[in-house]
Amino acid sequence: MKVTMILGDGIGPEISQSAMDIIDATDAGIEWEIVNAGEGVYEETGELIPDSVYESLERNKVALKAPLTTPIGTGFRSVNVALRKKYDLYANIRPVKKIGKIDSLFDDIDLVLFRENTEDLYAGVEKKISDDEMHSIKIITRPASERICRQAFEFAKENDRKNVTVVTKANIMKLTDGLFLEVAREVAAEYPEIEFKEVLVDNMAMQLVIYPNQYDVIVTENLYGDILSDLMAGLIGGLGLVPGANIGKDMAIFEAVHGTAPDIAGQDKANPTALLLSGCLMLDHLNKREEADRIRQALEVVYSNPQNFTGDLGGNASTSEFTQAVIAQL
Ligand code: NAD
Repeated sequence: MKVTMILGDGIGPEISQSAMDIIDATDAGIEWEIVNAGEGVYEETGELIPDSVYESLERNKVALKAPLTTPIGTGFRSVNVALRKKYDLYANIRPVKKIGKIDSLFDDIDLVLFRENTEDLYAGVEKKISDDEMHSIKIITRPASERICRQAFEFAKENDRKNVTVVTKANIMKLTDGLFLEVAREVAAEYPEIEFKEVLVDNMAMQLVIYPNQYDVIVTENLYGDILSDLMAGLIGGLGLVPGANIGKDMAIFEAVHGTAPDIAGQDKANPTALLLSGCLMLDHLNKREEADRIRQALEVVYSNPQNFTGDLGGNASTSEFTQAVIAQL
């Protein structure tokens, strides 16, 4: 089965190699079509996303993507946002689950955040009124709200999750967040077997820090989702551990939540876990759940021994040592 692999900038190539080596070791039958975009490619060709990347994505419809740098002053807001927009990857799914013995605030965190990925203040409708006044327009529509809410409830149903929480600020943004909440309530009514909660975003930030176990699946708008998912990453040990899926009707791109970590690039120090777990979400998507679960179980074992921890988790293991430790447990 052919998938596109975008190698990325900074630590991208190192963690991509690690993820590909581990996935290959499960004999999942993945054939990698390796392409690249971002800063490195821009310096060579003057293009941030070359046609070869679009062609490969359109051929394979599934990609694993390492983080990319968006060079400042190129006109693109972000390569990542550009890909999400072009292929209408409307659902950004971020599972946050405690792994092994990594130091974390709680023992049993297992949350999945569904973030609407195409509108809200990220729609980029900004206007200069004067040198002293700028406006940014928040866009929320019924169809986009409905498809993300439905996806969250379908996931909860298929995976026996106990509740779905919609997060908004509908008490203040009565029209935009009010619409998102109204749609969430309508979708929730179709799933009477799943408990439905409504929490305002400021309260949710506190709830997630004090009572994260009362929550399960969370569905929210673009900006709140971006912020809350980083907060949730903090609950389990940091950004190096959180994977992500960008899902559309015809295409799916899987990527870590973190960036290119230029401070440690090229030093065999990066933690490949977030990209590897993104690869596991990709395997789930390709109906290769058994291989994905083998990797997740191997990670549980590897993370029960602090000798395997990379620098971001307070350990000394290199990217290559970590990779070999995971492969040895498969
Ligand atoms: P970052 O996530 O790259 O780094 C923040 C801190 O976390 C750094 O200290 C870094 O060393 C550490 N870190 C991140 N991932 C790690 C890993 N896997 N292993 C070990 N340590 C890790 O965030 P930043 O510094 O704000 O951004 C750097 C660049 O990444 C920017 O150019 C930004 O545009 C880009 N970025 C890309 C994406 C993406 O492609 N999806 C997402 C976020 C940021």
